[in-house]
Amino acid sequence: MTDTELYAALKQHFGFSAFKGLQEEVVKSILGGNNTFVIMPTGGGKSLCYQLPALIEEGTAIVVSPLIALMKNQVDALRSLSSEEGIAHVLNSSLNKTEVRKVKSDIENGVTKLLYVAPESLTKDEYVQFLQGQTISFMAIDEAHCISEWGHDFRPEYRNLRKIIERIGDNIPIIGLTATATPKVQEDILKNLSIQDANTFKASFNRPNLYYEIRPKTKNVDADIIRFVKKNEGKSGIIYCLSRKRVEELAQTLQVNGLKAVPYHAGLDAKRRVKHQDMFLKEDTDIVVATIAFGMGIDKPDVRFVIHNDIPKSIESYYQETGRAGRDGGEGHCLAFYSYKDIEKLEKFMSGKPVAEQEIGHALLQEVVAFAETSISRRKFILHYFGEKFDNKTGEGGNMDDNMRYPKKKHEAKEDVSL
Ligand code: ADP
Ligand code: MG
Repeated sequence: MTDTELYAALKQHFGFSAFKGLQEEVVKSILGGNNTFVIMPTGGGKSLCYQLPALIEEGTAIVVSPLIALMKNQVDALRSLSSEEGIAHVLNSSLNKTEVRKVKSDIENGVTKLLYVAPESLTKDEYVQFLQGQTISFMAIDEAHCISEWGHDFRPEYRNLRKIIERIGDNIPIIGLTATATPKVQEDILKNLSIQDANTFKASFNRPNLYYEIRPKTKNVDADIIRFVKKNEGKSGIIYCLSRKRVEELAQTLQVNGLKAVPYHAGLDAKRRVKHQDMFLKEDTDIVVATIAFGMGIDKPDVRFVIHNDIPKSIESYYQETGRAGRDGGEGHCLAFYSYKDIEKLEKFMSGKPVAEQEIGHALLQEVVAFAETSISRRKFILHYFGEKFDNKTGEGGNMDDNMRYPKKKHEAKEDVSL
């Protein structure tokens, strides 16, 4: 396929005139029949990386994805771009017999280019046997970090995928995709899927427009937050808290102080959650005070600040949550309050869990402590954690954090500055 044809296909199927970031290279790798590994931050455009080759190639691509809601969104989006309803299907336990028959016949007739399945559905013999007889273009494992216990969303069923793929057919190319950038998780993915030979594409995780700041958490944290929010009145912001109780309290405190804030957590009924989320999107409220239940799939481009009332349990979570600020490339202030007591609290939460999980949780927390207490560039720390080299002098956003703007005095610095 020539470049002209490839761009024509991109335009035809998605209406885009250009690829984003590394997409073109990834698409070409997949079209070449190679095992391929893609690491791109959230919003980087991973879906298109496998959807376009699936639409171009003969046969059906199987896409493994962990959440039914995510699969449904993707299938709806693909259908809206095509005149062929059967172009994409979801195969899962919610389908009745007639629906399953329809999916199967669309695959047999070559209509279906993408078949989304949850990993647990893929273990069903009935499906495996059916798929064995079909032309499978490749297998894409989305959210591939679910394979790793070091990821933030470990799913044991993901660890059986390699075996299932082998049962479905010989030499089916495997595509892994994730927004988790830590070298440990990446290694796990490659090893578990046995695709150490994969062409690997890793986008930069640098977010140059985000300003990172950590402040000590004192008794006056409420006053500190109010002062910050008042200074930024009228701007959209998210304040993350560890507990639902704290979410409610802080939302109220802000309201009492004349600020537009609403709470959001999984303990609220669905109606209120939707209402508060809409208020935020429509700017009827400036601030959402929330637990981590808030944020997945929320795409508000002009969030101007993210405050962490409590430090998150991993650098990964911190990066994901702060990443919701400044999506439009504009200002994004990320302010976290840190106290070692909160670390101890998080350690305590883990104490009921299996030992192996505790050990991983502990190691992840130690990184958070190091990050909070470091005197080197926060950006450099985060990117180094993700296996990326960063030079503050030449790198974009090199001076966008508290440690670089206001360097600690020598005697205060706790460690070597040359990471
Ligand atoms: P990820 O899975 O990496 O988080 P998505 O695949 O959901 O990202 O894509 C994020 C957004 O980027 C989507 O709104 C998508 O339409 C858009 N997008 C993807 N590729 C392109 C492109 N080549 N040109 C313009 N927008 C794109
Ligand atoms: Mg995605």
